[in-house]
Amino acid sequence: MTVSLAPRAATRRSADELRAIAERGERELRSLAPAGSDAAEASPAEVIAWVAANFGTDAAAVACSMADAALPHLVAEQLPGVDVLFLDTGYHFAETRFTRDEVGRALDVRIVDVLPDQTVAEQDAEFGEKLFSRDPALCCARRKVAPLHDALAGYEVWFTGVRREEAPTRTNTPLVQWDERNGLVKVNPVAAWTFDDLLDYAGAHQVPVNLLVTNGYPSIGCEPCTKPVAAGEDPRSGRWAGLSKTECGLHL
Ligand code: SF4
Repeated sequence: MTVSLAPRAATRRSADELRAIAERGERELRSLAPAGSDAAEASPAEVIAWVAANFGTDAAAVACSMADAALPHLVAEQLPGVDVLFLDTGYHFAETRFTRDEVGRALDVRIVDVLPDQTVAEQDAEFGEKLFSRDPALCCARRKVAPLHDALAGYEVWFTGVRREEAPTRTNTPLVQWDERNGLVKVNPVAAWTFDDLLDYAGAHQVPVNLLVTNGYPSIGCEPCTKPVAAGEDPRSGRWAGLSKTECGLHL
């Protein structure tokens, strides 16, 4: 395991080439159902195999919120040593930072801490304290969206853990898509999984899971913007609770 502060600088193919690969992959994987299953699309392992066949490990990155390590584990099985991007906003729970360290220790991945331009203190000095409570969209844009955009410039493909059941905004998530905003291929291997599928996989493979997940936090973001959720409630209702905001802007 290596902990790094900088993503790899891969030699990238052109946007047109990558877009064509994404469009072909989306068609192929949508029609590729696992053997013996009623599913209408490829399994997570088949999606990752498609990435391994079309991209090198150096060209791929896995985005991980450190709620659990199911996605990094799945990807590292076929792309050992892959970069795992952690958006280190400066506002994470101690349990989340602990999980990040555990993932780096337990899996064959390279953790990349993606940092905002400003520390929390520098942001407070320019915008005032607790920007997250006055303008969470601006805070997320500065501490998550822009740093991820910059980091992804070094890759051709990125993996996300987006699942369709998480929110109405995610219902139509494809397995593979062209990410116009960031200019690379975006892959969502566990789009069809439920929260229980995720926990079952993590348990079966003994991969790290954030302690908060089993203590009322099925969706984990920054500490000031994440509240526990009662059993049976919308899993993402603890994110920016009481505000109209439901997404940090990474997956729009
Ligand atoms: Fe800021 Fe909250 Fe967004 Fe974190 S989740 S970047 S604290 S607004």
